[in-house]
Amino acid sequence: MINRGQIHIYTGNGKGKTTAALGLSLRAVCAGKKVFFGQFIKGMDYSELKASEYLPGFEIKQLGRDCFIFNDPTEDDIVAARKGLNYCKDIIVKGEHDLVVLDELNIALYYKLFTVEEVIKMLEHKKEETEIVITGRYAPKELVDLADLVTEMKEIKHYYKEGLEARKGIEF
Ligand code: ATP
Ligand code: MG
Repeated sequence: MINRGQIHIYTGNGKGKTTAALGLSLRAVCAGKKVFFGQFIKGMDYSELKASEYLPGFEIKQLGRDCFIFNDPTEDDIVAARKGLNYCKDIIVKGEHDLVVLDELNIALYYKLFTVEEVIKMLEHKKEETEIVITGRYAPKELVDLADLVTEMKEIKHYYKEGLEARKGIEF
């Protein structure tokens, strides 16, 4: 029990889910751990994609299609997301990373790009010591039940309501 890797979920409508996962990744890398950070829904050219240049032990990969889903996901979105899920499954099965982040996986589920059953099956392959973080709004109840830690980022105020656009280094 002592060294068992835990399953975290960062969800909710407030800012801070992906950045919390990045903060934890930084801490883990600085403790000499290996991190895999998979990003399911690509929205922008996120600055963190360059993190491997700065942080040995940090591996980041965009999974899914090269554009944001605005309406109904297309067959291409589904194929790409499923490929991404398989990639993460291989990472989890191999167990070479101490921390595996599945960023925006909840959003991929929300868009029904794959099913929660498939995600639970993937998590069953987790090695005892691997720590897992899942982020994204709308975490489904099945994952909340399964997780060891669930944090909800709740929006109290957000400057986007004042019309401030996403800024490089802050939002992406
Ligand atoms: P961050 O990556 O900053 O930690 P997050 O992962 O908690 O944020 P997401 O739901 O992934 O949040 O949203 C991505 C980004 O879009 C966030 O930086 C957030 O502040 C911003 N955002 C959220 N809602 C809106 C909105 N309605 N309009 C504009 N920007 C928004
Ligand atoms: Mg996010």
